[in-house]
Amino acid sequence: MTRPFSPERWAYEITHVLNAVLGPEHFPIDVPAVAREYSAKKFPDDPITRVVGDDLPGFDGALYRAPQGKKGWGIFYNNRIRSTGRINFTLAHEFGHFLIHRLAYPDGFQCGEQDVVRWDSEYGQLEHQANVFAANLLMPLDDFRRQIAPAAAIELDALSHCTDRYRVSLIAATLRWLSYTDKRAVLVVSRDGYILWARSSTPALRTGAFFRTSGPPIEIPVQSLPVQTKGLSEGRGSIEHGPGVWFPEPAQEMTVLSEQYDFALSLLLLGNAPQRYFAQADEEPDVFDRMAPPEQRREW
Ligand SMILES: [Zn+2]
Repeated sequence: MTRPFSPERWAYEITHVLNAVLGPEHFPIDVPAVAREYSAKKFPDDPITRVVGDDLPGFDGALYRAPQGKKGWGIFYNNRIRSTGRINFTLAHEFGHFLIHRLAYPDGFQCGEQDVVRWDSEYGQLEHQANVFAANLLMPLDDFRRQIAPAAAIELDALSHCTDRYRVSLIAATLRWLSYTDKRAVLVVSRDGYILWARSSTPALRTGAFFRTSGPPIEIPVQSLPVQTKGLSEGRGSIEHGPGVWFPEPAQEMTVLSEQYDFALSLLLLGNAPQRYFAQADEEPDVFDRMAPPEQRREW
C-alpha cells in the first residue's frame, strides 16, 4: 500500500501543475478554480463540484458531501467574513480536508471559531494538517523566499507585498516568514493588553526569546504600541525599545491594529547576538506553545 501524501506533498503536487500550466507567476491562486479543476482531473468520480459562500453561523468554512443522488463535494465559506485573505485561507483549508481526510471522514468537516483546540487531540491534528496544506499551497516556500530572503531584514512593506501577492492575511504571511527566516523575531497577537498567542522564529526560540502562552495570561508592556496607540499612524507604527521592555534585550516593535478583528499584531525584531542577555536560555517552550497558533485560525 502506498503511503498517503503529506499536506506538504499535496501542496507541492498542485504547485507543480500550476507551474506547468500557468508558469511560475501564478499568484494569487484562484482556490475555487484550482479545487474544482484539479479534483475533476484527479478524482473524476468524486470531485469538488461547488465552492460557494453560505450562511454558516459559528463556522468559517465547511466541506460537505453532495446530497444523495449527486456526486462529489462542496466547499463552503462563511459569507459574513469580509477579509479576502481569510476567505482564501479558509477555502484552501477545506480543499486540504478534501484531499487528505475525506476518505477517513466521509461526513465532511465544519471548521473554525474554536477558541481553544487541543493540538494533541485528533481534531487538532486534522486542523493542523489542513492549515499546513493551505499555507504551502497559497505561499510556496521557494517563491516566498524569493520575495524575502532568509537573511533579509524585514519591514512591514515587504510583508504587505506578500499579503497582496498571495492574497492572504498579514498574520498568515508573517507566520510563513517566521517559519524560515534566519532573523530572531517574535510575532505577538494581543487583545485588550494581553497576549492571545505568540510565535517565535527558530533562531529566536533557540535563544530563549518566546512567550509561554499556555500558562497564565501575559500582559504586554505598557510602552508597547498596542497600549500607546498615540504612536500609531493609521493603525500601524514602529518603535525602538530599550532592554527590559519586551525582553531583557532591546527590540524593534512593528505593530498593526487589525481593523476587522479587534486585535493587535506586533512583530518584535531582536539583534543577532542574544547570548549576553540570556544566560540561561536552555529552557524550551513546551510543545503546546509551538503548536497552538495554527489551530487558532479564527484570528487569521
Ligand atoms: Zn478544518
